Amino acid sequence: MLNIDLHCHSSVSDGVLSPTEVVARAAANGVHVLALTDHDDVAGLAEARIAADAAGVMLIPGVEISVSWGGQTVHIVGLRIDPLHPELAAGLHSIRLGRMERARRMAADLARHGIDGAYEGADSYAANKQMVGRTHFARWLVAQGHAPDMRTTFKRFLTPGHPGYVDHEWTSLENAVNWIRASGGMAVIAHPGRYPFKAHQLVVLLNDFRALGGEGIEVITGSHHPSEYGKFADLARAFSLKASRGADFHAPGEGVDIGCLPALPHYCQPVWQNWSELEQHPSFSTA
Ligand code: AMP
Ligand code: MN
Ligand code: MN
Ligand code: MN
Repeated sequence: MLNIDLHCHSSVSDGVLSPTEVVARAAANGVHVLALTDHDDVAGLAEARIAADAAGVMLIPGVEISVSWGGQTVHIVGLRIDPLHPELAAGLHSIRLGRMERARRMAADLARHGIDGAYEGADSYAANKQMVGRTHFARWLVAQGHAPDMRTTFKRFLTPGHPGYVDHEWTSLENAVNWIRASGGMAVIAHPGRYPFKAHQLVVLLNDFRALGGEGIEVITGSHHPSEYGKFADLARAFSLKASRGADFHAPGEGVDIGCLPALPHYCQPVWQNWSELEQHPSFSTA
């Protein structure tokens, strides 16, 4: 059985390990096939490719795109993308410009609540200066003693109704799916259990996503409680979406580690079902 993990982050977005270190960790954890899926940037994929070739890990080029849909932020993972595709690259660049502007507004909001210096603080935690995000603000807030840990930080700050949260318009669902498909990739809805949608809104999202050419949904992810796996496996089947598996790893000691999740339920059609490159893997087996 192949250990396939199709969602993780490096220091190119809000992870703490370099792309090389992420790949080395995946190899050490027994992962055979890994997708690096940094938020809104593909700048880590070239380095990850070199490390993966050296470690004997099969690297799937990926990305996690921030989208605004139904008044909420939704994340769309792109798998088997071409990181050099001009339409995808231009789209991601435009999202990063918005991100930089949002970071300034987040810092201004924290300053209004008496917390000064947050932009410089968050920036000091970001290896990629175009990618300052909520995780970097959260790490700085913890270091400054404003909250004991990341979980608590996101309860007291950076979320709707709390200091540091600002509305932001990401790109559309249509753009994200189109860019991924234009570059030859497959679009997958990330961690569906994390969105605060009512059941009927989730149905609309899945229908819209399918109509736009989206093909997959995460079933087994570090963002789902094990009690949710069955619900999203059933939804995947009901909407003829393929199922994905990924830890959404960001940092050692934070959340689930790479490759350390249960297998997909047997009745799911995996996103990798027709990926011919997997047949080349020495550990490949159809059993
Ligand atoms: P951004 O894309 O900058 O809005 O940041 C979103 C990121 O914040 C997610 O990808 C997670 O890494 C992190 N995040 C969001 N909510 C939480 C939470 N409750 N606990 C820990 N990390 C979180
Ligand atoms: Mn993240
Ligand atoms: Mn996400
Ligand atoms: Mn993620």
